[in-house]
Amino acid sequence: MKKKILLIHTGGTISMSEDEQTGAVTPGAKNPLVTSPLIVDPNLTIDSHELFNLPSPHITPKHMLKLASFIDEVVSEKNYDGVVITHGTDTLEETAFFLDLTVQTNVPIVLTGAMRSSNEIGSDGPYNLLSSIKVAASDEAINKGVLVVLNDEIHTAKNVTKTHTSNIATFQSPQYGPIGIVTKRGASFHHSPVSEDKYRIHSVSKNVMLLKAFAGMDSTVFQLLKQMKVDGVIVEALGQGNLPPSTIEGVKALTDAKVPVVLVSRCFNGIAQDVYGYDGGGRQLKQLGVIFSNGLNGQKARIKLMVALESTHDSQQLQSLFFK
Ligand code: ASP
Repeated sequence: MKKKILLIHTGGTISMSEDEQTGAVTPGAKNPLVTSPLIVDPNLTIDSHELFNLPSPHITPKHMLKLASFIDEVVSEKNYDGVVITHGTDTLEETAFFLDLTVQTNVPIVLTGAMRSSNEIGSDGPYNLLSSIKVAASDEAINKGVLVVLNDEIHTAKNVTKTHTSNIATFQSPQYGPIGIVTKRGASFHHSPVSEDKYRIHSVSKNVMLLKAFAGMDSTVFQLLKQMKVDGVIVEALGQGNLPPSTIEGVKALTDAKVPVVLVSRCFNGIAQDVYGYDGGGRQLKQLGVIFSNGLNGQKARIKLMVALESTHDSQQLQSLFFK
């Protein structure tokens, strides 16, 4: 039986064009992916839908929630076997992880994009799109969580990150690598994710901020965030999970006010842990009630805290969710 794949367009460079005179890359009134038909496997039926036509810096968690609800609704209504989403690469990893946490269907969901717009020489969009369709149609992609496919590699939404401003090999999974590759014949997996992390949410209403630690950082910005009454703060801490001692007063002000503070490392390999016992070290931060995250990068920890806060504010529960 023919597999049915749903193709959802959201915008990004994959659907933009370069102006020959100025060189500026912009979205047009019509997404070229919607108008130019793809040559694909005759064993597949492909329906396409344009949900947004936005550069990905314009995508917000509200758009992500709309996308997640749309996927769950339409997949169960029309029995799709897989979903492919085209998306700008700048925030693609955030949308992919949001969907990974919140979409309930277990059909393969694949996000893709392009580093070169539709009319540039060496445009990678059509190729990435075809590769993603192959992955979404593959039985092996079922129960692997949301996947990101570009440049012949298959990555998990949890581990993938954009690593280069312009190179087409920009998407990588530091420390873990891709879980599969795309060949001429189809998808070939060599690893499987070991756990699933799912939430049922109906809104995204929490204001969660992301800070990056630096040498000499002090408490000012933490105090400001407390005054702003934010719902949560992610800190990309130093090394193993430490902060300059001059931030402690500010961190304490937040944790005393029961604002969840989640620590990740600004290193892109490894996991933040409470190892160091000096002033500002991980031990002290843990004692203050700071939550240590199990290897997510800052932008994804922010997505996870926003999603988790829709169902709990309990710090023990939040801590155990961030161990996953
Ligand atoms: N700035 C673009 C976007 O994220 C980059 C891309 O799609 O590759 O929309």
